[in-house]
Amino acid sequence: MSNDFDLFVIGAGSGGVRAARFAANFGARVAVAESRYLGGTCVNVGCVPKKLLVQSAHYPEDFQQSSGFGWRVEEASFDWSTLIANKDREIQRLNGIYRNLLTGSGVTVIDGHARIESPTSVRVGDTVYSAANILIATGGWPEIPDIPGKELGITSNEAFHLKALPKRILVVGGGYIAVEFASIFHGLGADVSLLYRKELFLRGFDQNIRTHLRDELTRKKLDLQFNTEIARIDKQQDGSLQATLKDGRVLPADCVFYATGRRPMLDGLGLENTKVSLDTRGFIEVDERYATAEPTIRALGDVIGRVQLTPVALAEGMAVARYLFRPEEARPVDYRLIPTAVFSLPNIATVGLTEEQARAEGFQVKVFESKFRPLKLTLTENQERTLMKLVVDARTDKVLGCHMIGAEAGEIIQGLAVALKAGATKRIFDETLGIHPTSAEEFVTMRTPVND
Ligand code: FAD
Ligand code: NDP
Repeated sequence: MSNDFDLFVIGAGSGGVRAARFAANFGARVAVAESRYLGGTCVNVGCVPKKLLVQSAHYPEDFQQSSGFGWRVEEASFDWSTLIANKDREIQRLNGIYRNLLTGSGVTVIDGHARIESPTSVRVGDTVYSAANILIATGGWPEIPDIPGKELGITSNEAFHLKALPKRILVVGGGYIAVEFASIFHGLGADVSLLYRKELFLRGFDQNIRTHLRDELTRKKLDLQFNTEIARIDKQQDGSLQATLKDGRVLPADCVFYATGRRPMLDGLGLENTKVSLDTRGFIEVDERYATAEPTIRALGDVIGRVQLTPVALAEGMAVARYLFRPEEARPVDYRLIPTAVFSLPNIATVGLTEEQARAEGFQVKVFESKFRPLKLTLTENQERTLMKLVVDARTDKVLGCHMIGAEAGEIIQGLAVALKAGATKRIFDETLGIHPTSAEEFVTMRTPVND
C-alpha cells in the first residue's frame, strides 16, 4: 500500500513551511502539521512582532530629534494596547497568507500536535498518517534557569501579549533577545535594568561593537548590571516582584523577563519511537544532509541548534526539499558569512569574522574603523555615534568581516554581505564610489588602518 504522503513536515515555522512548499513544487505529496500558529516563532512571537515593537520604541527619539529640524510635536503619549492590537491584526493577516501559500502549493495543512508513531507514521489527533519521509521542524522554546520563583518570570512568548507595559522591568540575559527587549521596553518608557551574568553582553560579537553598545545604552540611561545573577524571585503582597541577586542585593520589579536561551522543542514528539539521536546540548543530531540516525527522518532549523536564525532555517528547508526530491540540484547550505542583525537601539549588524576571531584563526589583520555622529543627528541634541569596522586579511587584502552599530545597520550590512560572499578585497571597497551623503558611504572611504 502506498503512503499517504511523500513528506510529512512537523511544524509550520520558517524551515518547515519552506521545505513543504519546495517539496510540493517538486511534485511531492506533502503534509504539514502545526500545533500553534502558522509561520512559527518568527511570524508569531519572534522576528516580525519584535521588529514592530522596535519600530514603536524608536519614536520617542524621532519626536525629540524632529525639534532640531523645526518641528514642534505636542506632548506625545503612548498606548501599549493599541500597539499590541495592531500587531496582532498584522500577524493574523500573515497567518492567513501562510495558509494560502501552503494550500496554493498543494500542501495539505493539518492543524494539531503531531506525534511520531513509527519511522514512517505520524499521529495528529485521532488520525495516523503514513509518510515515506518525516521532517522535524519543531523549532525551539525559551528556557528560564531553575531558580526559586522562576514561574514568576516571563519570556519573549508572553512579552508579546502583556496586557499593559510594566513600569519596572528586569531583563535577564546577554544575547539577542535580552538586548533587543531591553531596548524595546526602555524606548517605550519603562524603567529597565539589564542583568547579565558575565563581564559584557553579546558574547561572540566584535569587542568594539559590544563596548560601543554598552556605552550607547548607558548614555541613554538604560541600567546595565553585568556580573549579576538572580538567585530567587518572590511575589510581594502588593503583587509586585522582588528579585534577590546572588550578591545579596534586592531589586524591586513589576516584571522579570528572561532571555537566557532556547531549548529544542521536542515535547510529546514521540522520538522514543525512532532511532533519532540528540547531541550533547539536547538538539537533534543530523548529518550534512539533515538526515537523523533514523533513515526516514530529517530535521532542520532551531531544533538542530546550528544557527537559530530564520534565513538559515529557510536555506535548510530548501536544501532538504532538494536532497529528497531534486538530488541533482542539491547543494549544501553555506554556514560561513551569515549576516545577522541585533535590533537593539541602536541596531547592530555584522557579517564575517570579528577582529578577535580573525586573529584567533591566524590571520594577520588590518582593521579599519570609523566612528562618527551621523548627519541626521547634527541639528539635534542627540550625541549617538555610529561605529563601522572592517577586518581585512593583510596578506590577501580580502575583507574578512564588516561590523556596524548605528541606524539601519541591518539594511547596510545586507549589501556588504553580497560583497563578502563574492570575495571582495579592501581595494574593491576603496574603488567603489560612495552614495553621498549617507552613513553607508563610510564603508568605502576608510583609508587608514587603526593599528598602523
Ligand atoms: P519555528 O519557527 O519555531 O517553527 C516551529 C513550529 O513547529 C512552531 O510553529 C511550533 O508551534 C510547531 N511545532 C512544534 N512542535 C510541534 C508538534 N509536535 N506538532 C506540530 N507542530 C509543532 N531570527 C532572525 O533571523 N531575525 C530576527 O529578527 C529574529 N528575531 C527573533 C526574536 C525572537 C523573540 C525569537 C524567539 C526568535 C527570533 N529569531 C529571529 C529566530 C527565528 O525566529 C528562528 O530561528 C526561526 O523561527 C526558526 O525556524 P524553525 O522553522 O526552526 O522553527
Ligand atoms: P542567546 O543564546 O543569544 O543568549 C542567551 C543569553 O542568556 C546569553 O547571554 C547567555 O549568557 C545567557 N544565559 C544562558 N543561560 C543562562 C543562565 N542560566 N543564567 C543567566 N544567563 C544565562 O539566546 P536568546 O534567548 O537571546 O535568543 C535565542 C536565539 O534566537 C539567538 O541566539 C538567535 O539565534 C535567535 N534570535 C535572533 C534574533 C535576530 O536575528 N535579531 C533576535 C532574537 C533571537 P552567556 O553569553 O554567558 O552564555
